[in-house]
Amino acid sequence: MARQIQKEIQRGVESWISLGNRRPHLSIILVGDNPASHTYVRKKIQAASAVGICSEIILKPKDVSQEELLYITDQLNMDPRVTGILVQLPLPGHVDERTVCNGISPEKDVDGFHIINIGRLCLDQHSLIPATASAVWEIIKRTGIKTFGKNVVVAGRSKNVGMPIAMLLHTDGEHERPGGSEIIWYLSFSAWLISLSIIPSSSIHVVANGDATVTIAHRYTPREQLKIHTQLADIIIVAAGIPKLITSDMVKEGAAVIDVGINYVHDPVTGKTKLVGDVDFEAVRKAASFITPVPGGVGPVTVAMLLKNTLLAARKVID
Ligand code: ADP
Repeated sequence: MARQIQKEIQRGVESWISLGNRRPHLSIILVGDNPASHTYVRKKIQAASAVGICSEIILKPKDVSQEELLYITDQLNMDPRVTGILVQLPLPGHVDERTVCNGISPEKDVDGFHIINIGRLCLDQHSLIPATASAVWEIIKRTGIKTFGKNVVVAGRSKNVGMPIAMLLHTDGEHERPGGSEIIWYLSFSAWLISLSIIPSSSIHVVANGDATVTIAHRYTPREQLKIHTQLADIIIVAAGIPKLITSDMVKEGAAVIDVGINYVHDPVTGKTKLVGDVDFEAVRKAASFITPVPGGVGPVTVAMLLKNTLLAARKVID
């Protein structure tokens, strides 16, 4: 699925350029030497290059000041060459992540963490949607899993992952229609490209409607309560950062299980560290109708959706 989405983005980038536009350009600000952050950024850069998106890393030491980061985002906001900006999180403790995320111009905010993009998402308006939430959405929709009137449990309520996933899945997409001329221009332009078969219809960014009944669980949800909810769920999405939080006795026969967890644990067999999700995969897969593995599930699709946001951000910038 990730490969398929990347192919669509590659075609989208080519057609965008063939119409005389600049190649999309993603600037990534990376602070400190956290190995996981460096790995994620490397993956994003490689994936961007594979679909024809230019990128650059702006590397800063871990004692960089918040003022300097805001100065950098200001410069990138004003640079017409730069169409997308992201700051790799987490940032060191002395920097306020919210302030830095709000320092990125909303139309270049490919992570969708700017307060305006989050607000628009909550109001069912067009926005750049956080990539992990978009990835979960794409996995559900492209697999053909029904959400309308279904019970969904989202375990985890973080503002970047659990909350936007729950937002997408419960909404009807009709509370507030997009009204800005920029969005109308974008939609008519996209419709025109689709009619000419220049871009696939799946590449148009529509207001999402999930229409599910969504329960959000979090760290203060007692485990017995979580189990009561998950046993009723048609779709279980787990983003809690707890290995084996979801076991087979918690899953209804035929449910879909989407694992967003990223946990590094000690493997007693190999003696090495290994990556696992939040679901007891081997046991739960027997009950589930669909299940995503870790690694190789939500992660690659998330990278693809970040690239999709980068293309969308580039298309909206008319200079
Ligand atoms: P992520 O960025 O993947 O969302 P965070 O560490 O920021 O990860 O957030 C973890 C989330 O998981 C928090 O919202 C927390 O409340 C939630 N969580 C922690 N323990 C449990 C639990 N036992 N059941 C459900 N959710 C939990």
